[in-house]
Amino acid sequence: MTDNFDLEHIWHPYTSMTQPLPTFKVKRAYGATIELDDGKTLIDGMSSWWCAIHGYNHPELNQAVTDQLQNMSHIMFGGLTHDPAIELGKILLKITPPSLDKIFYADSGSVAVEVALKMAVQFWTAQGQPQKTNFITTRSGYHGDTWNAMSVCDPVTGMHQIFGTSLPNRLFVAAPQTKFHEEWNQEDIAELKQAIQQNHENLAALIIEPIVQGAGGMRFYHPEYLRQAKALCEQYNLLLIFDEIATGFGRTGKLFAWEHAQVEPDIMCIGKGLTGGYMTLSATLTTKHVAETISRGEAGVFMHGPTFMANPLACAVALKSTQLLIEQDWQANIKRIEQQLSQYLKPLSQLDYVADVRVLGAIGVVELTFNVDMKTLQQQFVDRGIWIRPFGKLVYVMPPYVITHQELSDLLEQLAEVVQTMQGAN
Ligand code: PMP
Repeated sequence: MTDNFDLEHIWHPYTSMTQPLPTFKVKRAYGATIELDDGKTLIDGMSSWWCAIHGYNHPELNQAVTDQLQNMSHIMFGGLTHDPAIELGKILLKITPPSLDKIFYADSGSVAVEVALKMAVQFWTAQGQPQKTNFITTRSGYHGDTWNAMSVCDPVTGMHQIFGTSLPNRLFVAAPQTKFHEEWNQEDIAELKQAIQQNHENLAALIIEPIVQGAGGMRFYHPEYLRQAKALCEQYNLLLIFDEIATGFGRTGKLFAWEHAQVEPDIMCIGKGLTGGYMTLSATLTTKHVAETISRGEAGVFMHGPTFMANPLACAVALKSTQLLIEQDWQANIKRIEQQLSQYLKPLSQLDYVADVRVLGAIGVVELTFNVDMKTLQQQFVDRGIWIRPFGKLVYVMPPYVITHQELSDLLEQLAEVVQTMQGAN
């Protein structure tokens, strides 16, 4: 099944070039279906890592790209602008926290995080506080694979061991412990409070994924954590950065996860589902106050400007994808998916090697007591006609929102059977 050229020459995410994991060649994809080269079809449970929210090969998104192609696929953003960037910006300001007013378009989630961190440092430098350059974050976070994004990822499950002292030293506190549906435990905020009290003079910002910690452990935590974190940031002069790259565009049951807590950040990163998964685009949004402060500083400008900034093709498809989402009853659809995820996954918590089952919005997670053998498990899923890519102890799904009731039942039945019959599960 694995292509030989691919095996020998092409690197895949987080894999070895001497012992690569098998890959499955995809011929095409449509709706919630992935069709392999040999004609086998798989029901997609991953949305290509959170992003293909409307499924694949969507006629309206295809049309948006085709229409934009007739005008231009790309044009530099230095000194020039275009309708796709402007119209997308208008809709983004309507659906993100009211206090966010300025938009910086970037090329990927990781770059959006870099941009956010740079904004925070420039903000404090502009105010005559150049010592406020460091960042505080919680464990079990994930913010991307570029240098500074890596530095705020979980220091154990992230990449700190491999990159060692080449990474800037960030301040880490325990991950939020009170689960989303549990009763709030005030102790949960104590460590963050103490760390901020002791280090605020050198801290530019707190960066955190609101409500759902994604690739760092698929953990859902209590909204009160964010409310208290915001109060601490205000009290001790830290900016608050929300990384909504994974949680955005309806995935958690709200359009953006900050709404669960009604806490507005100073800077927010979005990406992934922004283009409906058609191509890479991200944005870092901030308040008038942050943007104007940076602009009044000695530098006078914000120092970032990627070549493919606000790529018109990406902006055009992002605009259509966002319109498609908000014009439908997406809340009811996410509820439907949430109910089905609970119905099929919750019974798995009876198994003694299942540590936890959790569902929020269109995210379903089965946490095992042991690390899975990704290669074997992935083959089993493919043999059963479903696409799920587990990692560590986690078998999780976040399907495209267009998945039908029947497709989702089939996906979850097969997933449940695989989990129930796991080898070496003790
Ligand atoms: N932040 C979060 C919360 C993410 O989930 C990801 C991607 N998994 C990123 C940042 C990085 O995005 P990208 O892979 O587009 O660089």
